[in-house]
Amino acid sequence: MTSTSSAARYDLAVVGAGIVGLATALAAVRRGLRAIVIDRDAQANGASVRNFGFITVTGQERGAMWQRARRSREVWGEVALAAGIPVVHTGLWMTARRAESLGVLEAFMATEMAAGCRLLDAAEARRRCPSIAAPDLLAVLESSLEARVESRTAIPRLAGWLAEAHGVAFLRGTAALAVEPYGVRTSRGAVRADHVAVCPGDDFSGLYPERLAAHALTRCKLQMLRLAAPGFRLPGALMSDLGLGRYQGYAALPAAARLKERLAAEQPAHLRHGVHLIVVQSSDGTLVVGDSHHYSATPDPFSLEEVDELIRQEFRAALGIEPPPTLERWTGTYASAADRPVLIDAPEARVRVAIVTCGAGASTGFAIGEELVASLLDTGGGA
Ligand SMILES: Cc1cc2nc3c(=O)[nH]c(=O)nc-3n(C[C@H](O)[C@H](O)[C@H](O)COP(=O)(O)OP(=O)(O)OC[C@H]3O[C@@H](n4cnc5c(N)ncnc54)[C@H](O)[C@@H]3O)c2cc1C
Repeated sequence: MTSTSSAARYDLAVVGAGIVGLATALAAVRRGLRAIVIDRDAQANGASVRNFGFITVTGQERGAMWQRARRSREVWGEVALAAGIPVVHTGLWMTARRAESLGVLEAFMATEMAAGCRLLDAAEARRRCPSIAAPDLLAVLESSLEARVESRTAIPRLAGWLAEAHGVAFLRGTAALAVEPYGVRTSRGAVRADHVAVCPGDDFSGLYPERLAAHALTRCKLQMLRLAAPGFRLPGALMSDLGLGRYQGYAALPAAARLKERLAAEQPAHLRHGVHLIVVQSSDGTLVVGDSHHYSATPDPFSLEEVDELIRQEFRAALGIEPPPTLERWTGTYASAADRPVLIDAPEARVRVAIVTCGAGASTGFAIGEELVASLLDTGGGA
């Protein structure tokens, strides 16, 4: 942990060392600012290290989120190279086993969001990856844009690189208690800063709780699994029909209505638990597989075996193989809002709050960091 002397003064204090806070610190130093990041945990422990590390462009909500994902993917490429963060694999295979799903993929291919994508028929997909053997596979949307990093090592590496290469100060094991005229009051004293970016993830009761309360935020709990190596390499991150009914870039297309009706009839338990399938691979061949979605102000910490089994069922159906043994289970939570994918608030001219409210922070965080810093420096955030 780097500490800060009470005499030090920063251009920007960032609260939160998850991907959104780190991205904001990066955007700040790229614009020549001196930045400090404050986090209550001794090491990264929030959504940013519990996720798939799946940096997704294709399937993000059309418009601003898709644009943010494209920009963030660019920055991930730069940062991975500079910070020595391995990109474990690239690309996406969105598999379709229903005629209605194929309809969604065809509609998607007719949009501007199909840039970097190809539709493979089942024969070509089998030729490319014979190990994916679902007998009812109809087609695969192949996207070249995605990247996968191992979040539990990538996020600490990103923080280390910000400190070493860019001089960002880190104050860990320290709660930010209030934004004050001089900067931030913390559990370990004053941090002096001209601007403050609050990136608290799904903590809505720390800073600006009254303002956050006006936005009907809630939290989403997800169940995740690590499965043993299946003995082959994935051609990219793999998803299934359930994802076409959930990810807004596909699900908001009119063609998705018929698919959603069919999924509701055929997979009610999956939909009740918000289960859809993402499979990504680690460098040792093991698979990170999920997930589920349960919403509550304070999600319980318990994993339901019934939900794990629904995830494994979808794995079995989409890949046509028996799921390898489960090696690890964990849950994670992220902020959620029904009416927006990101909340950016300006409670004071020199303060911004940013909360990703849709479970896409790894994919959009770098763009959001740039927006925050631009908004503070360029549009009335004070000198
Ligand atoms: C299981 C799971 C899978 C996911 N998969 C993906 C995926 O594949 N792709 C994708 O794009 N997104 C994914 N997401 C979503 C993504 O992980 C989140 O959107 C993103 O990590 C949010 O980042 P953050 O920095 O806002 O929050 P966090 O990572 O939660 O970080 C917030 C930090 O703020 C600190 N903090 C809060 N308040 C204070 C305070 N007052 N004082 C000091 N410190 C404070 C916390 O300690 C924490 O470290 C997933 C999320 C989960 C849970």
